[in-house]
Amino acid sequence: MNPIRIAIVGFGKIARDQHLPAIAATDGVTLAAIASRNASLANIPHFATIDDLLREGPAIDAVALCTPPQVRRVQALKALAAGKHVMLEKPPGATVGELDPLIALAAKNGRTLFATWHSRFAPAVEPAREWLAARRIEKVAISWKEDVRVWHPGQGWIWEPGGLGVFDPGINALSILTRILAQPVFVTGAELSFPANRAAPIAARLSLADAAGLSISAEFDFRQTGSQSWDIVVDTDDGPLTLSGGGARLAARHQVLVDAPEAEYPGLYRRFVELVAAGTSDVDLAPLRLVADAFMLGSRRTVEPFED
Ligand code: NAP
Repeated sequence: MNPIRIAIVGFGKIARDQHLPAIAATDGVTLAAIASRNASLANIPHFATIDDLLREGPAIDAVALCTPPQVRRVQALKALAAGKHVMLEKPPGATVGELDPLIALAAKNGRTLFATWHSRFAPAVEPAREWLAARRIEKVAISWKEDVRVWHPGQGWIWEPGGLGVFDPGINALSILTRILAQPVFVTGAELSFPANRAAPIAARLSLADAAGLSISAEFDFRQTGSQSWDIVVDTDDGPLTLSGGGARLAARHQVLVDAPEAEYPGLYRRFVELVAAGTSDVDLAPLRLVADAFMLGSRRTVEPFED
């Protein structure tokens, strides 16, 4: 099969840090163009917008949408309507419902729509899922705390409606949670802290449960300085499981089972190549639904203004 000719749309932090090297490292996909209002790459055809790319660009098979969630739906719609496969950065949209027409159009046009959850491709996530499958889970505690000034410098969109604030990283934890647990979970309570000058939360505390009443807590905070935490601890009838480093490391019963270098984006692109070859889509909205429910159910408090 010829390699998938893909164009990156939106050339910001994640496109540069991850998509570019992952495309270069993956068989079956090749970078054909970039659409960016501000950035270009030597020797790669460049277009300011996705409209220009689709109208005037070289032949492409797919787009990787690396733009903020608030603008991705329209871009995905245009790409699918033009017969392209679409890879969506996480979160897949600014609302849950806006994905429905995209899923339908992809199916109608026989194209792949892939809503990526990069954290699910962290090396310890599948081993954690397998380890937990044979145990009784008693409690889950998530701690996802990072310094927004380090990881999202100057990203104004994250503080706008639809930008999700601290749920932008927090949804990564929820994507792992919904992968490693066999049963569906739902939000039972939430407390969201909004800076007085921002439209998105800087911190959130969630309670979740499954149908049997499993206790799951999640703490998300953008105000962390010093050591960062991207940890999930699962108490089981066979001792604790700890996933740390965002899913890079796994310890069970205090023994390290996995400690591997991060390789999430090559995994995403291998999956994309597989999906296109199989003619199918992969859109799991469970993590986005949990975030939407936290916004729907959560109490809100105002905290001190945040300045970048
Ligand atoms: P970013 O650095 O702000 O880059 C986003 C890019 O999207 C911008 O460079 C801009 O590209 C384009 N863009 C911004 N506003 C736009 C608009 N109104 N219309 C069209 N294009 C617009 O953000 P990022 O960190 O790369 O994040 C992008 C997505 O990737 C987010 O959904 C985020 O959750 C996800 N992600 C980020 C990380 C991370 O570590 N940063 C990790 C995993 C996933 P041009 O100037 O090139 O047009």
